This record gives sequence, structure tokens and C-alpha cells, in this order.
Amino acid sequence: FTGTESYSAGNHRLREQMELEVVTIGTELVLGFTLDTNASDIASALTPIGANVVRVTSVGDDEMAIRNAVTDALERTGLVIVTGGLGPTRDDITKKAVAAIYGAPLRLDSKYLAVLERRFEKFGQGPMPESNRSQAEVPAGAEVLPNRRGTAPGLWLEGDPGTTVMLPGVSREMRGLIDEHVIPRLGDRLQADEQTRVTRSRTLRTTGVSESKLADQLGRIETKIDPVTLAYLPGIAGVDLRLTAWQMPDESAQRVLDRAAECLEPLLGANFYGIGEVDLAAIVLDTLKSHRVGLAVAESCTGGEVGSRITAIPGSSGVFVGGVICYSDSSKMRHLGVPNELLDSHGAVSEQVAKAMLDGVCHMFDVEAGVAVTGIAGPGGGSDEKPVGTVCLAARLGSRSRVLKRWFPGGRQEVRQRSAQAVLDLLRRLAFEL
Ligand code: AMP
Ligand code: MG
Repeated sequence: FTGTESYSAGNHRLREQMELEVVTIGTELVLGFTLDTNASDIASALTPIGANVVRVTSVGDDEMAIRNAVTDALERTGLVIVTGGLGPTRDDITKKAVAAIYGAPLRLDSKYLAVLERRFEKFGQGPMPESNRSQAEVPAGAEVLPNRRGTAPGLWLEGDPGTTVMLPGVSREMRGLIDEHVIPRLGDRLQADEQTRVTRSRTLRTTGVSESKLADQLGRIETKIDPVTLAYLPGIAGVDLRLTAWQMPDESAQRVLDRAAECLEPLLGANFYGIGEVDLAAIVLDTLKSHRVGLAVAESCTGGEVGSRITAIPGSSGVFVGGVICYSDSSKMRHLGVPNELLDSHGAVSEQVAKAMLDGVCHMFDVEAGVAVTGIAGPGGGSDEKPVGTVCLAARLGSRSRVLKRWFPGGRQEVRQRSAQAVLDLLRRLAFEL
């Protein structure tokens, strides 16, 4: 198909700007038990290749609801990706509902049935349960998209009134089929058109600064980065700044994003720590690795969250030596050598105790880098002087150390997560001398 003309095959409209809809199926989604991650995964995977999700609909496992939702979506865009309801059980009726739209009968695909039977043999699960047979039933005219990660195949159905791609609900399987089948196929169609426009985003991550302070710092940035737009996304880890270049040729999108990021970065200063999915713990580990020092942690209110964040990073063993969770006053005294007098005069949640915990753990593990956290995660235990959310943090690198008292909003889990992020950030700033 060409740039401005529409391409139609069985009413299948593919313009220079490919538009599609997503229909996610599952009663658990509309009851609110399962978060619809499939829709967002699909949108974020397809937008960069120039296929724009323009609407997402969720419906329960109800044949008429599925049929209506897919029919309406096809009517609007001619291209629909459906997830869920391809399992082997009676509540999985997506195929039947979609096949009915096309007037296509379900037929047993003997080739796929053999694939399924071999799969059960190979994984030593014994003979294939009878219910799995239904997964080899395919609407007439549909193409099977082999699923290496599970038993439900993807199905690509093209005709009147458009193209429907059915994918399994299990996220890992769905993403596999998107990468292996959907992106290559849609990509081929889009690449045939030199005017394909893509929407690309880049996220600059900040921490330790509020959204409003950042906005002041950035001033009238919007005019400087035009046509790129900026979104402030505050979260527990900090405020992410998402830059987006809308609907332009890929090269131009990359170029204007580069320029916008270069414009933004210097204004963010020490609060900026990385681009994209990057984790603060990984940044900290990288810099400690270059300093060739070992790291230890002493945790009270975070109960292991800091150690967990660190050990989640592959290769952390090159830096991380160990840590302790000292929750009670007596364990802080006995294992970290926190003096009784400090606990008596300042309380367990104090900058003095955080520093003593830090000194204790660095001594215990014989390392040059360390962090310590002590705080009141709530909901009880707060006072006027030290309300819930009061947290004292300490970090050391070599002979230099820093201690900080902060107050964090939110419930117990949020305070713990914010504390872990903040103490990692304290160490990052120390290491970069920010
Ligand atoms: P199904 O293909 O409907 O049998 O779903 C298999 C599994 O995938 C179930 O545990 C669903 O809860 C999960 N699932 C289905 N749809 C989604 C979705 N849109 N987002 C996240 N998980 C889903
Ligand atoms: Mg289901």
C-alpha cells in the first residue's frame, strides 16, 4: 500500500499511519482481580514501529460481549489484536466468538494437534488431556502462529470485516508472539511505506526531588524541546520525565529526542540518574565497582528491601558483601555495636543511630562502602516529633559519609520502598560527589 492511499483487502484499512485496537478478554479483568498488562505491553511494543493503538477495550468471558467488542473495533480500524480466552477450558470462547464474526467454522487442525501431542510427550507430561484438543481447533482461513512457550497458538484471521489477531492471555506467551510474529508482519507492511511515521518516547529518570521543584528547575522547557512533548510521571522511585516525539519518520524522531534529552539533562543536575528502564541500584553498583570497594547494608524499617534491590541486579556479587536486618534496639546494640546511650538519648530513629548502624555494619563486613536505614514505616509508632514516615539514612564511601533525615508520604509499603530508594540515592550522590 502507498502513503496516502488506503489499502483495502476485505475492508482492511491500513493507512500511512497504521491504527489498530486491542480487545482484552477475561472476566478477571473486568472484575478487577487481574491488571490488564497485556494492553499496555502491546501498545508499548507496537507504537515504536508505527502501529498505533487507538483504543483498548476489555470484556468478560461472554460470547456476545466478545463478538460485539471485536466487531465494533474492526468497524473503526480494520485491525484488532485480541488477547485471552484461548485456553483449553470451557470459559475460553474467544475463537468461537471471533470465528462467528467471519462466518468461519472451527476446524480441527491436524498438523497443530500433532504439534501439541508431541509437546506433551517431550515434556514427559503423559498423554495430552482431552481438553487440550480444543486448542487445535482453528477458524477456517486462519493462520496458526506457533507458540513456543505454551499450548494456545496465536491465530491470524484476515478477511471481511478486517484482520483479527488472537493471542493467548498469558503475558509471557503473548509477548513472545508479538515479538516473533506480529511485529515482523506489521513491520513488513509498514516498511513498504517510506512515509511510515512512528511515535517514540525516551524517559529520563530523577529521584530525590519533587515534581513541582523539577518543573521550576526546567522553566519554559516545552518551547525549547518542541516538537517533542514532556510528561512528568511521579512515582515511588522518583519523578520520571518522558519525552515523546509524535508520528514522524524514525530518524527524525531519534534526532529530536536526542536534542531534547541534551537540552533537559543539564537542567536536572544531580537529580538525574539514568535513561529508560535503568534501576538506581544498578547505577550504584556500577560506580562502586569502578571504585573497587565492597558494599554492606544495615536495615531496620526496610527489612531487607535494600539488600533485595541490590541482589536483584545481575553481577551484584562483585560488589555486595552482605547485610543485616537489625529491627529491635537490642539487636542494633548487640550486632551493630550501636551504643545504648545513643538509643536512649536520640531514639532508634535518629541520624545518630543511623550513623552508628552504618559504622557498625562497615566494620562487621570489613568494607569501605555501606548504607544504613532506620525509620517509622507506620501505621503505628509515630509521634509529633517523629511522625510516621520519618526515616534516617546514612551512607559511606571510603572516608566520606553522609547522614540524612527525611519524611516520606504513603502507607507502610510505600515508606519502605521510598526509604530504600533514598538510601541508594544517598550513596550514589556520595560516589559521584554530587
Ligand atoms: P486465558 O488465555 O484467558 O486462559 O488467560 C490465561 C492467563 O493469562 C490468566 O491467568 C489470565 O488472568 C492472564 N491474562 C489474561 N488476559 C490478561 C491481560 N490482559 N493482562 C494480564 N494477564 C492476563
Ligand atoms: Mg481467560
